Amino acid sequence: MTTKRLYYEDAYTTRFKARIVERVRVENDTAVVLDKSYFYPTSGGQPFDKGFINDVPVLDVTIREKDGALLHWISKGDIWSDDIVADIDWARRFDHMQQHTGQHILSQAFIRVANAETLSFHLSDETVTIDLEATAVQPEHIEQAEFLANQVIWQNRPVRIRAATTEEAQQLPLRKIPPGRDGRLRLIEIEDFDITACGGTHVNATGEVGLIKIVKLGRVGTNLRVEFCCGRRALQDYRQKNSVVNRLTAVLTTGADEVVDSVTRLQEEVKEARRQIKRQQTSLIQLEADNLLAQGKKKNATTIITRVYADAESDAGHLRTLASRLTKEDNVVALLGLAGEKCILIFSRSANAPGDMNQLIKPSLQMLGSASGGGTAEMAQGGGPAANGERVEQAIARAERLLLGQL
Ligand SMILES: [Zn+2]
Repeated sequence: MTTKRLYYEDAYTTRFKARIVERVRVENDTAVVLDKSYFYPTSGGQPFDKGFINDVPVLDVTIREKDGALLHWISKGDIWSDDIVADIDWARRFDHMQQHTGQHILSQAFIRVANAETLSFHLSDETVTIDLEATAVQPEHIEQAEFLANQVIWQNRPVRIRAATTEEAQQLPLRKIPPGRDGRLRLIEIEDFDITACGGTHVNATGEVGLIKIVKLGRVGTNLRVEFCCGRRALQDYRQKNSVVNRLTAVLTTGADEVVDSVTRLQEEVKEARRQIKRQQTSLIQLEADNLLAQGKKKNATTIITRVYADAESDAGHLRTLASRLTKEDNVVALLGLAGEKCILIFSRSANAPGDMNQLIKPSLQMLGSASGGGTAEMAQGGGPAANGERVEQAIARAERLLLGQL
């Protein structure tokens, strides 16, 4: 049995009595069909209404294809009485009315300023978008359409619901004439501005939309996607952005107009500072390498360098850079360690230096209680649990003895 859709004529009633005429069960979900309903079902780009039937939450409202019945999906097993009282979540409904009427206004505004048709409309809890034919829209049209749309709101024009046959609709300035149900169309008319065939819920006068703000533009294929917000959403958006700008101007101690320049300048300063740090790090590593090379022990032609750092003065990255800097020199073996919460060993040698770092590192790692680590003959590394400087020094001293034995 089909449902009489009362929201077609009246979008403002939020409490009504009706009769359950059918119960539908799909797996664990239950829906009730009412003889008449003000609940809006998901359709035409607009989401469903939420609310209650006899205090039981309505979680979804859908249309049954075969007969147009509205299925009110409820959270609990059943509603026992057939005579029910229903309540519609007005905040959600009015939000949809504001966004949807706002969409009709904005779509017509884009036709007036850019001759750009709306190809599709989507409304969700987070965003409202229309897709336009991109070729027609020039950058200046965006603000023009937004301004025209807001003028139509300020003029507080009546919004009327009209019924028409498909033939009658052909005499009216409709943009598109969709196939009507049984040859009947429901038209939404914004006085002397727009007529659109639509099944959605709308405000009674454009002033109730409050405000329209375009917030984002994007490309979807060859189309232009215009994201906007109306009414309460526009207020929330303004609040949020105002708060962001206020915090930024306070942090940057600058005016709102200068925030972008100020942040751009800061980014450039950070980039320059990073470059400077990089340069200084490079010369520091070079200095450190020179020092270590000067202090290194000579055995035959080989220079052996051992050094253990505390975790406050080094890290794995520093050790690796230092090792690679040291072993760029001729005939050098570098046995480096880091003591602290997690100990690290990095053993590295020049291409022409003796010794197998992979073999050398294993006994040292074992001494530090680590099972993982290794590498190649030229370069090996590994890490273990916490170890103090003395223990790491002992582990490295062992490797040094092994190496000296081989030279
Ligand atoms: Zn519509």
